[in-house]
Amino acid sequence: MVLDNLGSSLRGTLDNLRGKSRISEEDIEDIVKEIQRSLLQADVDVALVQELSNNIKTRALDEEPPAGTTPRDWVLRIVYEELVELVGESTDLPLEEQTIMLAGLYGSGKTTTAAKMAWWFSTKGLRPAIIQTDTDRPGAYDQSKEMAERAEVDFYGDPDEDDPVTIAREGLAATEEADVRIVDTAGRDGLNEELIEQIERIEDEVRPDRNLLVLDAAMGQSAKSQAADFQDAIGIDGVVITKLDGTAKGGGALAAVDETDSTIAFLGSGETVKDIERFEPSGFISRLLGMGDLKQLTERVERAMEATGEDEEDWDPEDMLEGQFTLKDMRKQMETMNNMGPLDQVMDMIPGMGGGLMDQLPDDAMDVTQERMRDFDVIMDSMTEEELENPRVIGQSRTERICHGSGKPEERVRELLEQHKQMSQMLKQFQGMGDGDMERMMKQ
Ligand code: GDP
Repeated sequence: MVLDNLGSSLRGTLDNLRGKSRISEEDIEDIVKEIQRSLLQADVDVALVQELSNNIKTRALDEEPPAGTTPRDWVLRIVYEELVELVGESTDLPLEEQTIMLAGLYGSGKTTTAAKMAWWFSTKGLRPAIIQTDTDRPGAYDQSKEMAERAEVDFYGDPDEDDPVTIAREGLAATEEADVRIVDTAGRDGLNEELIEQIERIEDEVRPDRNLLVLDAAMGQSAKSQAADFQDAIGIDGVVITKLDGTAKGGGALAAVDETDSTIAFLGSGETVKDIERFEPSGFISRLLGMGDLKQLTERVERAMEATGEDEEDWDPEDMLEGQFTLKDMRKQMETMNNMGPLDQVMDMIPGMGGGLMDQLPDDAMDVTQERMRDFDVIMDSMTEEELENPRVIGQSRTERICHGSGKPEERVRELLEQHKQMSQMLKQFQGMGDGDMERMMKQ
């Protein structure tokens, strides 16, 4: 994740401010240094880093914290606001009929992003279609078609046609029923005149409402000049940063955003069609700073719930957050988490769960491996309704009965109960911490 290290290093430095009634110039220097180090490591442009540092310094020292605000909260808020300013707004993407063209170099993740975006729009109730105009890369047609199938969206491509402009024209006609048409284009190893000329011709034909530039997060400062060239050719309205799962960088993309005066639209973090999220600056920075992002967590939970086929009336994550965490919840939770993606990513989105708190938990607290999950499932099948609702009633004799019924060792049953206990404790902490921190920060 971009600036992944920032959250933890900054939290440490900010924690030094705890209990202080005044912030010294030295404190601010330390914090700014920490931020600079993380940003530069993440390939953020030096000039941008300098500007951000100056703003933080000036504001932290010159502005008066409102009454009742601790120096730590005050500085955290300034850092948060300035970082939000640095990453910018999210690209405006109204949920309406539109055509979006994707541009970018070979391998940046365009084809994957086209399918991901199509899937994303479909979750918003729109009917998307992918138009594949990449006639250069031999595998592009098959890859795109297959991903469109996985995303369950319309697809148009023509492996026998050489001219991308013809494909674009025919694709637009063939996908008239779609609401959102996503036009994928060819890339090259580097930007050359031929590519620029081709993409300009496709643009003339398609007349997209938006052009998005797809950038690999690992791309360093060269993203800036590349973005400038695409900007000159077709104009860039937004940037999609891909492969955030594989790198702690991503700063090059910020330079591209700055260069094109555009914004970030989506973040890609994996190879499947669901590994995409809409860029939300405040949530993104909150997450970096370990403040969590409830909104995204809720979205993920909802999505995972859909995949699990559960009716929300039957199982409401809100109940869980209110402390009535039963073994049934845990079972649902395990299924849901399976659908949600890596647990540490999910945990990072929970307010108060990022960084520090995760470290305090025993290593195996969240280690719900497939094998354990299967065992847990079998064990829960041998429990009574009463036990599932209120696991505290399970004493030695009930444990023995459950072992006998499930054919699993006593140790496994105890593990399950322990896991349940830890998860409910964790949820209690979650309840206690996150919202307050976050709200305080937002309101001031
Ligand atoms: P294109 O040439 O720009 O169309 O790029 P592709 O969509 O074919 O992507 C190039 C490679 O990057 C493929 O192997 C993708 O599976 C992979 N890829 C794309 N997006 C992501 C991502 O967000 N995370 C990871 N880990 N891999 C990705």
